[in-house]
Amino acid sequence: MEKYDTSDMKLFLIRLGEISLKGLNRGFFEKKLKNNIKLKLHPCKSLLTREKGRFYLYVDNSCPDSKIEFILKTTFGVVGFSKALVVEKNWDSITKAAAELIEKEPFSDGKGSFRIQSRRSDKSFEMRSIQIEQQLGGVVLDRYPQMTVNLKNPDKTLYIEVREKVYLYTSPVEGPGGLPVSSAGKGLLLLSGGIDSPVAGWRMAKRGLNMDCLYFHAYPYTSDQALQKVKDLATLLGPWLQGTTLLVVNFTQAELWIKDHSREEEHTLMMRACMMKVANAIALKRNARVIVTGEALGQVASQTLESLCFTNSMSSIPVLRPLIGMDKNEIIDTAREIGTYETSILPYDDCCVIFSPKHPLVKPEVDVQTRSYEKMEIDDILAKCVEECQEYPVNYI
Ligand code: ATP
Ligand code: MG
Repeated sequence: MEKYDTSDMKLFLIRLGEISLKGLNRGFFEKKLKNNIKLKLHPCKSLLTREKGRFYLYVDNSCPDSKIEFILKTTFGVVGFSKALVVEKNWDSITKAAAELIEKEPFSDGKGSFRIQSRRSDKSFEMRSIQIEQQLGGVVLDRYPQMTVNLKNPDKTLYIEVREKVYLYTSPVEGPGGLPVSSAGKGLLLLSGGIDSPVAGWRMAKRGLNMDCLYFHAYPYTSDQALQKVKDLATLLGPWLQGTTLLVVNFTQAELWIKDHSREEEHTLMMRACMMKVANAIALKRNARVIVTGEALGQVASQTLESLCFTNSMSSIPVLRPLIGMDKNEIIDTAREIGTYETSILPYDDCCVIFSPKHPLVKPEVDVQTRSYEKMEIDDILAKCVEECQEYPVNYI
């Protein structure tokens, strides 16, 4: 770090998990993560270097901590982070720094057990590690009398390293883990206004997939509020996805055509088939190699094994369904955690409202339903959907 002037900057230590275990590819993943973090911090000036499986992130002092913390909590690849303070080797500065650090997470709730862990590489420093630990323990207990000392298995730790300068940091605040967005290539997320698809997108972003989002809108059968809800969901996903583009297809004509040109019990399946066809065409245009949906096995008629086999047959690229084996309650828990749940449950109808067959087919046969699909002769309408698709850029912060 000596090459840079970091005097007007603050330091965050970032812990990397899975990435640091990568063999020869490690550099590739680290570079993606570094770019993702720096992009989000822009226009704040930042410097990022790597040492022993850690990132040292220096950010201009003018950048608020809350912004940096939000970024690190929503950037896949970050396993944990601590704000670190670098001070001169005198006791006054050290105590002040410790007092400042414990005002923040994970100490700020003032509860549980803790320890101080000191490492003194500079043996000329006047205090020994044990003395440093005792003195700083006192600083913590003065501030949080309810906390207890636990040397073996503390809830949180305040670390101090005495080197050419003194570094202080706390046990890391959790990051989201996973792999940096874009390290796995690009996909297209079918984003509806429901609970499931935002969670599906989040899970794939966590495995490094970069995604555009595609929404099928059937105005006036689905309202402007329904579209606004999807825009809001895309905005909430923005930080996790490193930004995205929301693509909106006007699906009204296609839905009305399906209603008039297929049997009632097949309506939903025909709509799913059309969605896949349009999604394939858009994926091709935007260099997306896979489609992602929020389907879970058995959740509704269009998600039985037979229905999924039929929908799959309509796609020439893989369809990833990260929620396939999840219960609704598990999906809801994640939706709450990532902050999309409250928006997802707003009561605006999604685009199945034009037709909800009383007895939808639950065991379609690929051959039979493919013939039904072909008989509709809907290609021109779908081509128009693709051509007139609207784009809304969504920021990453
Ligand atoms: P969700 O809660 O995400 O709406 P769902 O349980 O309501 O899902 P379906 O309506 O059958 O289930 O949709 C299954 C998946 O198909 C969704 O998770 C989403 O990926 C996609 N999908 C459904 N409707 C739309 C739409 N209007 N626009 C884009 N994708 C959609
Ligand atoms: Mg839905």
